[in-house]
Amino acid sequence: MMRNKKAIDVLNKDDLIVITGAGGFIAGALARYFSEQGFARIRAIDKKPLDEWYQRVEGVESVCMDLSEKDNCVKACQGATEVYNLAADMGGMGFIERFRIECLRSILINTHMIEAAYHAGAGRYFFSSSACAYNTTLQEDANVRALKESDAYPAMAERGYGWEKLMSEMFCQEYWAEREMKTFIARFHNVYGPYGTWDGGREKAPAAICRKVIEARDSGKHEIVIWGDGLQTRSFMYIDDCINGIDMIMHCEELIATPINLGSDRLVSINELVSIVEKIGGITLKCHYDPDAPTGVAGRNSDNTFIKQVLNWEPATPLEKGLEKTYRWISQQYADRKAGKRTVS
Ligand code: NAD
Repeated sequence: MMRNKKAIDVLNKDDLIVITGAGGFIAGALARYFSEQGFARIRAIDKKPLDEWYQRVEGVESVCMDLSEKDNCVKACQGATEVYNLAADMGGMGFIERFRIECLRSILINTHMIEAAYHAGAGRYFFSSSACAYNTTLQEDANVRALKESDAYPAMAERGYGWEKLMSEMFCQEYWAEREMKTFIARFHNVYGPYGTWDGGREKAPAAICRKVIEARDSGKHEIVIWGDGLQTRSFMYIDDCINGIDMIMHCEELIATPINLGSDRLVSINELVSIVEKIGGITLKCHYDPDAPTGVAGRNSDNTFIKQVLNWEPATPLEKGLEKTYRWISQQYADRKAGKRTVS
């Protein structure tokens, strides 16, 4: 079988790679990944002030710019060979259910970025879509059928955030159809790992649960509040697997303008997730359930048939192992914050 192509196989080391949202979790990890592979010209962009970026990678051109402004997107894309657009105003369920307007306004970022990338003559354009683009009526049971790529239509995406992703996907598809720009679209399913948001309202379930277990250990109050009834189900992908998948998708000609799932297909309930983290923390907690907290759809899983077939990609990191690394990192962040040091969230 032919090996999948990656950036290292198709780019020169001095080709310019532009990565947006790089002050955040996934794009920050992507900038580090390309830098470690020896790419010499990486332009990382985020609207956050530089001292608030989750990771700053040495040798990477790091720029603070708001990419909802057209002129900034033009500057961002100047000279780009490849553009990875991961900038979005987003967070976990607590954020995307409450701030739908902010989520929808991310359409400005993709609208201007894709046009700027096109005029700059970028060879490839990557867009980070989401499992939230899928039809929500297929996700009303915790025991869901895994979502395959065709399940986004007929459309009934998650209000706000999901519709923005679906619309931006369509931009990517039309820039290929009408203008022959090579675009690539991955639908991420819950990504977690070190250097992700772990506090402050935008964090997602794995990080929030790790933090709550760490807080319970620290305070001696062995209790945890779980959003909803804890029976809602999801699948979770470790950051390294996500980065590897992005590189493979971006360099696969068969996937031009073709949305593809990038996630784990191991379905777990939030209660199961809590049990795994309790085990890592060496503690058992009394669970309190908050029925009024935002929970999103009842269940969501990734059908990986297509990605296995095209790329032979499967997530390599078991949930227990990925959570262990995430838990250790959040513990350190928690301790650093207590000691008055700077932390990610
Ligand atoms: P993140 O919040 O850590 O990173 C996104 C970054 O985009 C932030 O640092 C933010 O400051 C930046 N940003 C927002 N608006 C901007 C603007 N106008 N100009 C410049 N920068 C701006 O989130 P993440 O988890 O790293 O997500 C990256 C991408 O992946 C997003 O598009 C997100 O929707 C998508 N995604 C993530 C997940 C997940 O589980 N983390 C799941 C599905 C999709």
